[in-house]
Amino acid sequence: MPGTSVMWFRRDLRLADNPALLEAGQSGEVVPLFVLDPVLWGRAGPARRAYLAASLRELDASLGGALVVRRGDPVHVVPEVAAEVSAPTVHLAADFGPYGRVRDARVGEALAASGRELSPLGSPYAVAPGRVRKPDGEPFRVYSPFQRVWLEHGWRAPVDPPSDPTWASLRSDGPPDVEPVPGLELPPVGEQAARAAWADFRDHRLEGYREGRNLPASNGASQMSTYLRWGEIHPRTLLADLAQRDSASATTYRKELAWREFYADVLWHRPESARVELRSDFEAMVHDPPGETFEAWKRGMTGYPIVDAGMRQMLATGRMHNRVRMIVASFLVKDLHVAWQHGARVFMERLADGDLASNMHGWQWVAGSGTDPAPYFRVFNPTTQGHKFDPDGAYIRRWVPELADVPTEQIHEPRGVEGYPEPIVDHAAERKEALARYERVTARRR
Ligand SMILES: Cc1cc2nc3c(=O)[nH]c(=O)nc-3n(C[C@H](O)[C@H](O)[C@H](O)COP(=O)(O)OP(=O)(O)OC[C@H]3O[C@@H](n4cnc5c(N)ncnc54)[C@H](O)[C@@H]3O)c2cc1C
Repeated sequence: MPGTSVMWFRRDLRLADNPALLEAGQSGEVVPLFVLDPVLWGRAGPARRAYLAASLRELDASLGGALVVRRGDPVHVVPEVAAEVSAPTVHLAADFGPYGRVRDARVGEALAASGRELSPLGSPYAVAPGRVRKPDGEPFRVYSPFQRVWLEHGWRAPVDPPSDPTWASLRSDGPPDVEPVPGLELPPVGEQAARAAWADFRDHRLEGYREGRNLPASNGASQMSTYLRWGEIHPRTLLADLAQRDSASATTYRKELAWREFYADVLWHRPESARVELRSDFEAMVHDPPGETFEAWKRGMTGYPIVDAGMRQMLATGRMHNRVRMIVASFLVKDLHVAWQHGARVFMERLADGDLASNMHGWQWVAGSGTDPAPYFRVFNPTTQGHKFDPDGAYIRRWVPELADVPTEQIHEPRGVEGYPEPIVDHAAERKEALARYERVTARRR
């Protein structure tokens, strides 16, 4: 098949604004390939799997059924597919995560062994990790200056989808079949859904974002993270629209996207920070092993309604509101004294938008061990957080049905409700304990 190339889709499940796909199309026929890697599939929980399977079906439909899905180790599968169609080049958007970087280097070597090449173009970010630097060339360790230089750096305009693509026809194993997950509610999936969701937010809710984004019961946040995670839409598309608006909410939204870029940059420079504390002095923090209280946290049965609502929202939908992510993470680390890595693993398994960089550094931020950390001594009080951000308890009632009929005055501190537990720990006591443990870490520093 002369003039055939391979486009290896990974976390860029879209046709529009996909420079690598455009480049692939320039040499003629394209094999659109997705490799279902058992390592990554094995780590994903039911929501992630269901989402990915649905997104692959959407991508396949937009390719007129031409998507080639193969199962196996990409190091073998990608060169095999390239050899099947005698493609000299495999096009792809670069992956900047620790696993993806190593995998891509190995795939590149395997291709080179048969005289083929891997041709990365673009990334899941507006600015590729590693590009934004301090004047002395060092990476940023703090978000605000990163954000300013990132904005000055700028990014290219989005590109169109291929205008007249020809997809090669090749055997496909098809998108994976996923057992239906009882009770799991996924949002609409795929590139068209992502673009529609963005247009709806941009046109109807963006201007209220600055105020609305902190209220989990409201529809104030954009819910774009899962689409961004799977590359069903590229952040450049969002940023191009934001550039047309001169409002406080548009600025705030752009700054939120910059957090995603910042964390990817930090992880790129410090890949080990997906596992260990970025601030090494925090390695001295004494944690409790995950036990019964950890299991209660996972099930959403802590007796703290806002925590339980968040954990149950994640179980039911593969999503959780940002404010509530911070509250449940703080509860695990500072009320239950369990190391952030345990909670982060649960999030990665359950979240449809589970993204190593945003997740691990979101957890490290809460734990105080990350870049630009929240001061450790600022311990979230789950009850007052509930009062502040879910004042009438609508979010709690939505996700904790046992509390649906509890009067608003008691919704954040319900007692004696049938089927709902009493608080598993005393927040005031655990707060003191967390601060004492922190004090021991800082004492070692002095
Ligand atoms: C403990 C913890 C774990 C997290 N894990 C993830 C994760 O696995 N995947 C993920 O995408 N986000 C994660 N976040 C960040 C944030 O909670 C989600 O991006 C956000 O809730 C997604 O909802 P949204 O799209 O409605 O957000 P919006 O408020 O509408 O924000 C718009 C976009 O900005 C980006 N963004 C916003 N806040 C953050 C942030 N703090 N860090 C990085 N990007 C941000 C996201 O891409 C988001 O879609 C985590 C946060 C915490 C505190």
